Amino acid sequence: MALIVQKFGGSSVGNPDRIKNVAARVAKYRAQGDQVVVVVSAMSGVTDNLIRMAKELMPLPSEREMDMLLATGEQTTIALTAIALHAIGIAAVSMTGAQAGIVTNGVHTKAKIQNITPKQVHELLDAGNVVIVAGFQGQTQEGQITTLGRGGSDLTAIALAAALSADLCQVYTDVDGVYTADPRIVPTAKKLPEISYDEMLELASLGAKVMQSRSVEFAKKFGVVFEVRSSLNDNPGTIVKEETASMEDVVIRGVSLDKNQAKVTLIGVPDKPGVAARIFKALGEAAISVDMIVQNVSHGSGSPSTDLSFTVDKPDLLKTNKVIDSLRIEIGFQAVASDEKIGKLSIVGVGMRSHSGVAAKMFETLAQNGINIDMISTSEIKISVVIDLAKGEQAMRAIHQAFIG
Ligand code: ASP
Ligand code: MG
Repeated sequence: MALIVQKFGGSSVGNPDRIKNVAARVAKYRAQGDQVVVVVSAMSGVTDNLIRMAKELMPLPSEREMDMLLATGEQTTIALTAIALHAIGIAAVSMTGAQAGIVTNGVHTKAKIQNITPKQVHELLDAGNVVIVAGFQGQTQEGQITTLGRGGSDLTAIALAAALSADLCQVYTDVDGVYTADPRIVPTAKKLPEISYDEMLELASLGAKVMQSRSVEFAKKFGVVFEVRSSLNDNPGTIVKEETASMEDVVIRGVSLDKNQAKVTLIGVPDKPGVAARIFKALGEAAISVDMIVQNVSHGSGSPSTDLSFTVDKPDLLKTNKVIDSLRIEIGFQAVASDEKIGKLSIVGVGMRSHSGVAAKMFETLAQNGINIDMISTSEIKISVVIDLAKGEQAMRAIHQAFIG
């Protein structure tokens, strides 16, 4: 008998028929005598729709109210999933994040899990129930409802698997596993049997969209091995785990395209100590996560100035502009420009550490395709470029062809 955490994403619970399929899958594991904790997302499109309605009322709604609103999406799905299990004769109880003992800090819409006390989950499991937990949500010590950031149901699943010391954690989605690229964009993309946490992390944070990156970080930190697999079939998926020696034999594990970033450029920023610190401190305090940062060589001799570009998540652009505006007088830069029509294309692989010429090959391939590079950043296992969004998919196919086939 094993304790299994199974997470089902929005498309896997997208309508009552799909929820019936989830119930049937859970029933199979129950029939083997396993204990099952199910974590579900909101039905696909629901969270986006709730956000859209709030923004029709006001461009920057209160974040506390957004949490109150968005938490309803997952609450709908837990109850429907419990009902679907009852309908086939299986004991099941739904629980909100708070009821499952998930305690977070108070940063609304991007809360961090502080601890999980799954006492009630254990009790209900031991009494023979399937326990269905709402993903993406928790509660502060003071009892305020919080959410964990978009895609946060993954985090709920991984964190619960750690807290319950689960034997197995399965993340069910609408793809068969992790691919070398998004197969909808690159038809020759292949499914990976396994991938290291670090590669997955780069791919997730770069917009491979398979999983939320914070949940992979969490899994790495707590050593939670998990499998990403399809809710539509019984094929084995991709195992995500600690790096092994043989993983370095492959130069590039995958190519990803992040269309969800926006670029902000501050023009004519005084080039003196403390300016960058001031800007990024203010962004950090507003809980805006900055990804790439590029500062140009400064110009002018008397009081030199420079241009500073960085990228943020597109939904944070309004907030970012507000923060930057509030610094305009204090810092004294000349102008701000933002660009939402960018794509960030990245190649990822632990094999980069032991193979050379990888960057040159990437840049040459882009040049041959007439694609201009706007920003570049690298890490030990990743090279990213910012390019024109309109050329993103073409670039992705060319790069995949050059490195993977
Ligand atoms: N429903 C939330 C979202 O769309 C959480 C999730 O799906 O994991 O971001
Ligand atoms: Mg989701």
